[in-house]
Amino acid sequence: MITFDKIKYHSDLGNLKCGICGEPFRADTDIYYSQKVSGYVCEKCIKRFSKQQIEEFLVLFNTYKGHFGQFNISVMTLKHMIIEFFDLISYTSHTDIIELNMRLRHQALLYGYTPEQLIELMKRIIAK
Ligand SMILES: [Zn+2]
Repeated sequence: MITFDKIKYHSDLGNLKCGICGEPFRADTDIYYSQKVSGYVCEKCIKRFSKQQIEEFLVLFNTYKGHFGQFNISVMTLKHMIIEFFDLISYTSHTDIIELNMRLRHQALLYGYTPEQLIELMKRIIAK
């Protein structure tokens, strides 16, 4: 299980942002850091997501960049996003299913969809 150390943010740490939501840290606020995955996390995100989710999100954002909710959720529905994603699979040479899964999860996070919402929608699509 991943653990996070709680530290106080101060300017000596540099201009840091939350590795999940992308919000810049304010002086003297509590922030969280794990040796296991690189990235600092704000209190709001620590409370909102499980430690396991935060670990996964940090890995995805460290790999593919961006942050949770970076894009306007109204711009693209999750269903539309999944359809586009399947289009991507059909015309690229991607054969690594693990990477494709990571990219889909990353894309959902960019639009502020949680993994639970992504799974719910995929279940509904499969059921049709
Ligand atoms: Zn945050």
